[in-house]
Amino acid sequence: MRVLLIAPPGAGKGTQGALIAAHFDVPHIGTGDLLRDHVTRGTDLGRVVRQHLERGELVPDDIVLAMVREAMVAAKAAGGGYVLDGLPRNMAQARSAYLIGLELEMTANVALHLQADDSVLVRRLLARAALEHRSDDTEEVIRRRLAVYHEVTHPIVDWYAERGILVSVDAVRPVEQVGREILVALEVMRPLIDHVPEQNRRPIDLTSLGIAFGANPTNSDISG
Ligand code: AMP
Repeated sequence: MRVLLIAPPGAGKGTQGALIAAHFDVPHIGTGDLLRDHVTRGTDLGRVVRQHLERGELVPDDIVLAMVREAMVAAKAAGGGYVLDGLPRNMAQARSAYLIGLELEMTANVALHLQADDSVLVRRLLARAALEHRSDDTEEVIRRRLAVYHEVTHPIVDWYAERGILVSVDAVRPVEQVGREILVALEVMRPLIDHVPEQNRRPIDLTSLGIAFGANPTNSDISG
């Protein structure tokens, strides 16, 4: 299973990425985690990227792409599956990730889009800030990260819809419920992935599933 995660900050990318990786026994490649690790260890790369992270701005594409390429080569040696969490963040990264995938014969099978409203995300991220003290979880930087998401990251969702590999999920629900829905959707897709060419598939939109099954959309925000 090869999955890309596209989600605004605070939508539960890291948590759901870890769940998918554990379920399918594939490496979880989290670009934010890898970058924060460089900053903590004070590596040369960490010194270059620290300010970008602190301001909520994207790190230059060539840096993250080199990091991801290395992780994908390792993932190939480990069996070929992966969950890529945090890249692509813009159209140029989406194209480059696709080219790296073609070259390594491991393009993504599924682009999983976690959807949530800004008001929910800001609340969740401020709650997380109180617990984790991440330097980019101040209200000002959170707003900047959300703006970057809307400007340059969200537009890539359409590209994956056109490629036929998009699955959209409503992330404004309890984290276990979102996780279960994701795993069911991915398990259902597994046979399609092997047998139906991408161009013959349709995007899958599960974002109103909760409402269809009786969830109250105004009362469903439980942080994850
Ligand atoms: P995240 O943990 O995914 O929220 O990422 C935290 C921060 O790492 C982002 O706000 C960016 O500064 C940086 N970052 C993570 N992934 C990327 C990427 N693919 N391209 C550029 N910057 C990134």
